[in-house]
Amino acid sequence: MNRIPLIVGNWKMYKTSAEACAFIAALTPKIASVATLRRVFLAAPFTAIQAASECAAAAGGQIAVGGQNMHDLPEGAWTGEISAQMLKGSGASFVLLGHSERRTFFAETNSFIQRKLLRALQEGLIPILCIGEQLHEREGGSHEDVLRAQLEECLQGIDPLQTSRVAIAYEPVWAIGTGKTATPETAQSVHRFIRTWLEGRFGPECAEKMRLLYGGSVKPDNIAQLMQQPDIDGVLVGGASLDVNAFAQIVNY
Ligand code: PEP
Repeated sequence: MNRIPLIVGNWKMYKTSAEACAFIAALTPKIASVATLRRVFLAAPFTAIQAASECAAAAGGQIAVGGQNMHDLPEGAWTGEISAQMLKGSGASFVLLGHSERRTFFAETNSFIQRKLLRALQEGLIPILCIGEQLHEREGGSHEDVLRAQLEECLQGIDPLQTSRVAIAYEPVWAIGTGKTATPETAQSVHRFIRTWLEGRFGPECAEKMRLLYGGSVKPDNIAQLMQQPDIDGVLVGGASLDVNAFAQIVNY
């Protein structure tokens, strides 16, 4: 199965609209030579999505812009929240769901994330479901149980026909923003575990089509080895996506 590698930048709470556009204008020529070989997504802060998606379109459309979170309901009295339709209307084509920072600091549960995932699909957004274990879970040997529970609960109710539109990002929490990357072998073994679970749940054909991304301190100097692994189809990049040269090197690995 030829899964086109997907490189996703997660800007978190960084970059104004002007900074986002300047980044996209600078990035575009640096990644032009891999335009047909890589898909490039940037998860921007809500306030920069509209401007960034317009700038990305004006730059030739190689880069897609998306959100970092959304609510599961279409509208309502939810101060500070944003809906899938609002994201789409601002030019977003995908959304990160269940990032560990959302789970840890905003108490997001698997069932809330599952409802968001269904809504994102219903509204035509590509959901990127983030899962991952904490350090004590890895050290205690329960990481597969944790990941299995996250997969079971977050993907409940998903029609197999929709799975080709869903990407899953494995982000061990102990590797996010810490400089500690999982070794390529460790990441590959977890990705194989995830794909095997997907095969059991949705069938081998669907599992083959789904993109599995690795996230956690991805840098220009570790991307190539990660991408050599057969079940790693792309990466989710936090810190290194803020610097245009570092991110361009990752895209061009
Ligand atoms: C992330 O925020 O999803 C992430 C992987 O961050 P970093 O690359 O900085 O570890």
